Amino acid sequence: MSKKEIIHIHIGQAGVQIANACWELYCLEHGIRPDGILAFTDDQASYGAFFNDTGAGKVVPRVVMIDLEPTPIDEIRTGTYRELFHPTSLLTGKEDAASNFARGYFSIGREMIDVALNRIRTVVEDCNSLQGFIIFRSFGGGTGSGFTALLLEGLVRDYGKLTKIEFAVYPAPRISPIIVEPYNAVLTTHACMDTEDVCFIFDNEALYDILARSLDVPRPTYTNLNRLIAQVVSCMTASMRFEGSLNVELVEFRTNLIPYPRIHFPLVTFAPFVPVSRAMHEAMSTQQLMMSCFEPSNQMVKCDPRQGSYMSCCLLFRGDINQNDINASINQIKNMRTIKFVSWSPTGFKIGMNYQPPATVPGGDLAALQRAVVMVSNSSAIRIAWERLCKKFSLMYSKRAFVHHYVGEGMEEGEFTSALQNVKALSNDYKEMETEY
Ligand code: GDP
Repeated sequence: MSKKEIIHIHIGQAGVQIANACWELYCLEHGIRPDGILAFTDDQASYGAFFNDTGAGKVVPRVVMIDLEPTPIDEIRTGTYRELFHPTSLLTGKEDAASNFARGYFSIGREMIDVALNRIRTVVEDCNSLQGFIIFRSFGGGTGSGFTALLLEGLVRDYGKLTKIEFAVYPAPRISPIIVEPYNAVLTTHACMDTEDVCFIFDNEALYDILARSLDVPRPTYTNLNRLIAQVVSCMTASMRFEGSLNVELVEFRTNLIPYPRIHFPLVTFAPFVPVSRAMHEAMSTQQLMMSCFEPSNQMVKCDPRQGSYMSCCLLFRGDINQNDINASINQIKNMRTIKFVSWSPTGFKIGMNYQPPATVPGGDLAALQRAVVMVSNSSAIRIAWERLCKKFSLMYSKRAFVHHYVGEGMEEGEFTSALQNVKALSNDYKEMETEY
């Protein structure tokens, strides 16, 4: 049976560099060479959800990449995968967004928006039954924050009903390469609150720690971080690509995880983290995998889930998994006092199972064991990350520091206050979720 299609949109440096890692892994999993030629015949055509078949033994990713400056996309144009992507799907401008939301949203971004939406329209026309869009970007960069907000408005206008989910690099708690990252992150959260359906956030510090602590990579680079993100994304999307007994479609994230439209930032956890060097020595049972999903050290964002309550949980397994083992582990988890669910939501777990085992690219850090799992849960503990961000924003804004850069690109100063209030309200909304009735 052919799968419903999904289009990837990669925006800004982080979005585009994550594309390198994701498409490298997708190609490996589907037996596609870097030039887009199928290395073996796939009777199920499992690649159809993410790749368009040109009919000449070559497939092309259903993707559009956009950056307001040329460097990251130029690396793809000249790199190993240069023949994989359709050249017109790689869109670059000449001037960067200078880490400024307002340049991405108002000034420079406006010059690029029509070209981007037109290219997306062409990719949409190659689909028979489009499920929706997956967007990759950072919250902290100018293109990632500003241009994505502008693009999402266009996507809602043109494809209102289709699902729009995001994988976003969220400002890390302590380290940041950009001073105004809290401004950009709060402004984009405010601007995208009603235009995106689900947003899965990753903070680089959480990823650094996982790589250093569990994967024997003491000094991770962006390539290491991005390959880790790609593994998580691949596990989450395996059931949208391969046949399985309990497959999960894109729209189901929305219906199962999001109790109210604004509460759309689920916490992502992955297991197992085993380095390639120990691949042959480790095996993890389904029960161990499930327990690891509730460990804060396996989360993609730094926050303590014990400081909040779970509203919904979706466990997506891949590989050699037995449904009975899952049921037994769920009962055990429900009886654990450290794992708290809100009283108004039945402690339901949505389960996805796909038999396609994990794979790892040459030079990858994470071992491909027999089985893996991603847990996406709506936990009120994520408000800790929003509170941290609002605090940093308020500190700078109390002195109106750097604000003139934004006003100079056409933004009204009042937007800063509205955005901050909206994100503070979001954090209160999460708190409200914990209220018992
Ligand atoms: P933009 O091109 O203007 O959207 O800016 P960036 O994407 O460079 O945004 C800056 C933020 O993204 C910072 O928090 C960086 O740490 C983060 N970042 C930049 N490149 C990467 C990358 O390749 N991978 C990851 N995980 N984060 C990145």
